[in-house]
Amino acid sequence: MERLTLEDRLGLVKFNVAAEAHLQIDKEKCRVCKERFCLHVCPVGNYTEDEADPGEIVLSWEGCMECGTCRLACPHDAIDWNYPVGAKGVCFRHG
Ligand code: SF4
Ligand code: SF4
Repeated sequence: MERLTLEDRLGLVKFNVAAEAHLQIDKEKCRVCKERFCLHVCPVGNYTEDEADPGEIVLSWEGCMECGTCRLACPHDAIDWNYPVGAKGVCFRHG
């Protein structure tokens, strides 16, 4: 049986994307943040630095796995973290 890589497995996850972001970051806090743990802890790399302005954090919430790691890792309480509304968000497949 073929073994799937982590990337293969993540590629199988489906999303029912809501119209509004369920995660918000306080960009003023991010701009002066020295640790920037969010860039390293998100399992799907939703946090990146803006190439044109590395001081700016870009959050791609659409592919969020709703694991909550970023909220725990942020040392400045800069993330307003909520679950997506209604039946939106990540759809895990089991079995
Ligand atoms: S760790 Fe928190 S404060 Fe620092 S850049 Fe990431 S979200 Fe912003
Ligand atoms: S909740 Fe998890 S998957 Fe979503 S942005 Fe935070 S670390 Fe990434």
